Amino acid sequence: MPIIKDKNKLNPIFLPFVNRIIEVAKSNGVQLIVNETLRTNDVQFAYYLQGREGLLTVNKYRKEAGLYLLTEKENERIITNKTSVNTREGHGAGLAVDLVPSEGWSAPQSKWDIIGKAVDIVAKYSVEHLENIKMMLVWGGNWKSLKDTPHVELKYK
Ligand SMILES: [Zn+2]
Repeated sequence: MPIIKDKNKLNPIFLPFVNRIIEVAKSNGVQLIVNETLRTNDVQFAYYLQGREGLLTVNKYRKEAGLYLLTEKENERIITNKTSVNTREGHGAGLAVDLVPSEGWSAPQSKWDIIGKAVDIVAKYSVEHLENIKMMLVWGGNWKSLKDTPHVELKYK
């Protein structure tokens, strides 16, 4: 099962937030591309191996998961501590999305920061709605360890 980019695989309570974040980023000059929505265990496990196992092993699992193959350099970095998805939260529940500027992964930091800015703006205008559903919008760019700038998540408080 390859990486899932279909926005319609997101949880229906999360999708309107994602659409608004994309709109706000666009009005701030950044076109965002949806890189991943719902995630399978195959994909999560392949991510987990990155930076922990040799390139041959990592790419074997990535190939099986339908992911592009990494370079030696890309395999130097650990990107997640989770071996499998949790079907009640995050990508496993369709409550997280990874957004990438149209320039791609090498986009300047300023473009990535717009994701965080867009999340803040959308959260601000959704305060009541978020209170009602007892959830919050989180940007992975604010995480202290394993900073995850593409990642936006709707989390239970
Ligand atoms: Zn993510």
